[in-house]
Amino acid sequence: PQPLCKVVLANNIAKNLLQEVAAGIKALERPPQLHGFLANRDPAGRMYADWTAKTCKENGIEFTLNEVNAEELEEALRQANKDDEIDGIIVYYPVFNSSRDRTLQWTVSLYKDVEGLSPQLISNMYQNIRFLDPPTNSIKSILPCTPLAIIKILEHLHVYNNILDYGKRLFGRRITVINRSEVVGRPLAALLANDGAEVYSVDVTGVQQFTRGSGLKKQKHEVIDKPDLALRDVLRISDVIISGVPGDKYKVPTELVRDGAICINFSSEKNFNPDIKEKASIYVPAIGKVTIVVLMRNLLRLMENRPRTNGS
Ligand code: NAD
Repeated sequence: PQPLCKVVLANNIAKNLLQEVAAGIKALERPPQLHGFLANRDPAGRMYADWTAKTCKENGIEFTLNEVNAEELEEALRQANKDDEIDGIIVYYPVFNSSRDRTLQWTVSLYKDVEGLSPQLISNMYQNIRFLDPPTNSIKSILPCTPLAIIKILEHLHVYNNILDYGKRLFGRRITVINRSEVVGRPLAALLANDGAEVYSVDVTGVQQFTRGSGLKKQKHEVIDKPDLALRDVLRISDVIISGVPGDKYKVPTELVRDGAICINFSSEKNFNPDIKEKASIYVPAIGKVTIVVLMRNLLRLMENRPRTNGS
């Protein structure tokens, strides 16, 4: 018999989201201006830059790629922050491939940061503060692209339950995230827990639980070390498994996956074996196409958030 599993491709998820973004771009007075900054020789960075350029062009966004020396990048970013013609900034990391990259993330203005890596944005995200102007709450905070792309995928797959109130729509879901990097895995675990899920965050050091506690009584998630739990224990009970381990060696053991689980891979390599289709109800093999649409959505939001001038 044919496996029941539905393979859902990022392209199809991106299409819906793109319609929303395209309508928003059309309604603007002028096309958005996105500036990319490439200061490394990493072919992956160039590929991503070319891909951003192509997607922007197809969707009415003007994209300029600035190739600069790493030592001059910080100053170039300061200039871009001040330039009213520039609406959004993206830096292709790694630049120095050290903690110095964080200084660059701090330099990009919070009003132009399409990637959502500014310290105030990151802090809001962990604290579950969703607006930049409390208590008015009219300006939504920007979320980092890859974690937000995964959230958009979970919404598309109806893992988010619309019957429940905003901010609680993952209540009752158990989700395992294999990867706890600062750019994807940890922020993702925090966002999912803030939306109500019981999250198991797994990395090379072990398992942590991210949760708002029984009945979501806490306003934001807390993190609890789980030294007694291993990957096998959390896979068995997870409704959703999200994996992002770099390298082609790592595979999520299919036999430990719950029957009917939803499996999402965001690693550039395949973290699931082909036989996952005999276990999973839904399998999303890659997410890159959604990430790039989320980046454009963030750009649009930055323009909508812009402090208004000319009294308009
Ligand atoms: P990273 O190297 O910073 O982090 C890797 C994480 O995986 C760490 O938390 C590490 O502890 C964990 N890990 C490694 N081996 C493990 C194992 N055997 N068991 C459990 N956990 C393990 O990498 P990153 O920047 O988070 O990127 C991860 C992957 O995601 C890469 O393949 C990258 O290309 C991809 N990525 C994709 C997108 C996208 O939009 N599709 C965006 C960013 C990154």
